[in-house]
Amino acid sequence: MEKQGFRKNLINIEPYVAGEQPKSDNIIKLNANENAYPPSPMVGMAIAEFDSSVLRKYPDFSAEPLKSELAAYYGLTPGRVFVGNGSDDVLAAAFRAFFNGDEPILYPDVTYSFYPVWCDILKIPYKTIPLKDDFTIDVADYKIKNGGIIFPNPNAPTSIALDKNKITELLDANRDVIVVIDETYIDFGGESCVDLLDKYDNLVLTRTFSKSRSLAGMRLGFAMGSEELISYMNAVKDSYNSYPVDAVAIAAGCAAVKDDKYFKDTISKLVSTRERLIKEFDALGFETAPSAANFIFTRHDKFSAKEIFAFLREKGIYVRYFNKPRIDNYLRITVGTDEETDKLISAVKELIN
Ligand SMILES: *Cc1c(COP(=O)(O)O)cnc(C)c1O
Repeated sequence: MEKQGFRKNLINIEPYVAGEQPKSDNIIKLNANENAYPPSPMVGMAIAEFDSSVLRKYPDFSAEPLKSELAAYYGLTPGRVFVGNGSDDVLAAAFRAFFNGDEPILYPDVTYSFYPVWCDILKIPYKTIPLKDDFTIDVADYKIKNGGIIFPNPNAPTSIALDKNKITELLDANRDVIVVIDETYIDFGGESCVDLLDKYDNLVLTRTFSKSRSLAGMRLGFAMGSEELISYMNAVKDSYNSYPVDAVAIAAGCAAVKDDKYFKDTISKLVSTRERLIKEFDALGFETAPSAANFIFTRHDKFSAKEIFAFLREKGIYVRYFNKPRIDNYLRITVGTDEETDKLISAVKELIN
């Protein structure tokens, strides 16, 4: 319907729908790809020991301590690291800074649902490129005229990683536009492109503390790229969105990066639980994509995704169902603890048998 009066000037926006946050504690929550394990104990200590009197002052505007910590970890200079309030803030800065051309930007038809949101808000022209039937990205499809490219590696919600030699092929064919790779899930599998940053000055990687570092509630994300591109992201953040990362988050983030052993142990636990879950699901008649993330993307040969979703929900197990073309018979299920995974498997067995 045509909008009337002042309403015709309202933003035309399809609201982003996040995974449901249940109120009850008895729910097994496998619907938002949060980490099954808490953050490093060093994060807890950093927060407990945080000197609250410094909150009187504004935080370090450039989040320098955290940039330096991340730069050292990834072997970069601090000027090549951008820090924001969650990677959604980082992505917003990237879209604003990099996608200002007349040609459409490209991203997969099945991917992170925030990309179309930012394109709509910022009026960025875009073209979606269909994934192949097996939900993989075919880099040959990205050798067309475009104003930039963004895709997650591993992709979401498919969980499938793209081979690095394929990424190199895509980058070689796209030297004149900026390519953003959303490496939200890269710590759980796949190969990071950090070492390609020196070769491709048009490449930017975005990361988050929300998934592999168990800090979704803290809102911390970052990006890595050339000093030039990162300076544009900083300029955008400082002018459009002057909400620097807060002082407590900087301290917590530094502690999380410092505790590398905890980080690696947590990931290895989740990866082995993931592999066990996929195997058990195989035996129950599921077909699951090869996951390189902390979630699986799966369908059953007899029960519809909607049916399984509803049954699990009844049992207090929340998973993600997307009522969207191509993927409406799939479920995205976050890998939980071993105990949660056992409960998930028994619930599914109850339905199937
Ligand atoms: C979770 C997620 C993000 C955003 O994470 P933040 O919590 O905003 O840091 C970005 N990209 C993808 C693909 C995600 O799944």
